[in-house]
Amino acid sequence: MNYKAALQNPVFKIISQASKNLHLDSYVIGGFVRDYILERGDAKDIDVVAIGSGIELAREVSKLLPNKPKVQVFKTYGTAMLRYNDVEVEFVGARKESYNEHSRNPIVENGTLQDDQNRRDFTINALALSLSESNFGDLLDPFDGVADLERKIIKTPLNPDITYSDDPLRMMRAIRFATQLDFIIEEQSLNAITRNSDRIKIITKERINVELNKILESSKPSKGFLLLEKTGLLKHFLPELTNLKGIDEVEGQTHKDNFYHTLEVVDNISKNTNDVWLRWAALLHDIGKAPTKRFSKKVGWTFHGHEFEGSKMVYHLFKRLKMPLNDKMKFVQKMVFMSSRPIVLAEDLVTDSAVRRLVFDAGDYVEDLMTLCEADITTKNPKRFDKYHNNFKIVRDKIIEVEEKDHVRNFQPPVSGEEIMKTFNLKPSKEIGIIKEAIKEAILEGEIPNEYTAAFNLMIKKGEALGLIKSE
Ligand code: ATP
Repeated sequence: MNYKAALQNPVFKIISQASKNLHLDSYVIGGFVRDYILERGDAKDIDVVAIGSGIELAREVSKLLPNKPKVQVFKTYGTAMLRYNDVEVEFVGARKESYNEHSRNPIVENGTLQDDQNRRDFTINALALSLSESNFGDLLDPFDGVADLERKIIKTPLNPDITYSDDPLRMMRAIRFATQLDFIIEEQSLNAITRNSDRIKIITKERINVELNKILESSKPSKGFLLLEKTGLLKHFLPELTNLKGIDEVEGQTHKDNFYHTLEVVDNISKNTNDVWLRWAALLHDIGKAPTKRFSKKVGWTFHGHEFEGSKMVYHLFKRLKMPLNDKMKFVQKMVFMSSRPIVLAEDLVTDSAVRRLVFDAGDYVEDLMTLCEADITTKNPKRFDKYHNNFKIVRDKIIEVEEKDHVRNFQPPVSGEEIMKTFNLKPSKEIGIIKEAIKEAILEGEIPNEYTAAFNLMIKKGEALGLIKSE
């Protein structure tokens, strides 16, 4: 087969010319070829393998390009990279890798194209197109990767037990590709992943995270998480999720399986947002339920305080997984902490003051919180499903209405503590807090508008009630 059509970007002809100048063969390999055949759009990352020095080839390519781009060399890896227009091209010399049991790092030697294809993770990632002048665009597919693309199968080129044991990250990558592309992991591979799952422990959290995020960014993340659970990988890095598995029964009373419920919520939210942090919030929104689960004869199963517990667990989980401990984490914590608020509100009559309090507490996150809570509706009872969704629609409309009227989002007290001190000639004292709180409460309850004059008048009234003498 010839895939010249895939190589329209002028950079490929230049690489071909550079290879000729250096008397070596070169190939574009991996994700670029796979994504072209899958029609996933033009890939911006191009991997080129040279049968010789990848670094020298990169330098020659740069010389031939009109803008002579800078070549970044990564000596330790023997690779080089350059940017040309909107693409990033990475060059590497073909290598042969062999692993021994005691070291995580392979012994690397120069190799042939076939050696290089052997060290690739999956048959669909081992596809190469020739960039040599004589057979420009010819496909080299020793493992029938194109057929696997058609059959939608993830399979390793060599013995899966060896491939996964050599670099256990490949187990995560298999599941990530299966989720992203909606492929099936071939049975032998899946069994090998299960057998080797404990070896994921030797992989750094950062590398695991990259794959986890890609799974979470897919259109149906549950596919990946179910595979991670089934193969025994998930418990190694997200035990908080596997702890949600299972249904307990005491005296005939059961609760829902919160693991499967969580995955349903993640799939639901993925239809409405691409924000990976909001998806993380969906994934973690119920993690506090495992440690707070109790049974009482009177009320059955309860998870009191699971939102608070869960938000604390988010911090430990982020820290353990080496995820950023910044605003993104705080956002996830806040979402988890507030994740039951709208549903409680929507179970009843939706009042203005309840909505005002929600906006006050959630601030700029209120829309995201609504998106999370709508995704959380997984009831199979159609009447309840409709009721909750209708109520959430009312809540959303009321949020807009209340916002226009009262501006309680990112609330700034209309009368400052300073002004209270001046008016009543007070030093810093608890009375100031009492008055401020009374004004805030009156606004949230809708007793006074969020305006200076109304707040000032209430301040005077409260000051008098507290026996404070107004100074001139
Ligand atoms: P994406 O861009 O979606 O991550 P990709 O296949 O381009 O997909 P990269 O991580 O950029 O992913 O890897 C490029 C190529 O390098 C892959 O197609 C594969 O051939 C090879 N590769 C990457 N990681 C591994 C690995 N752990 N083991 C073996 N081969 C790998």
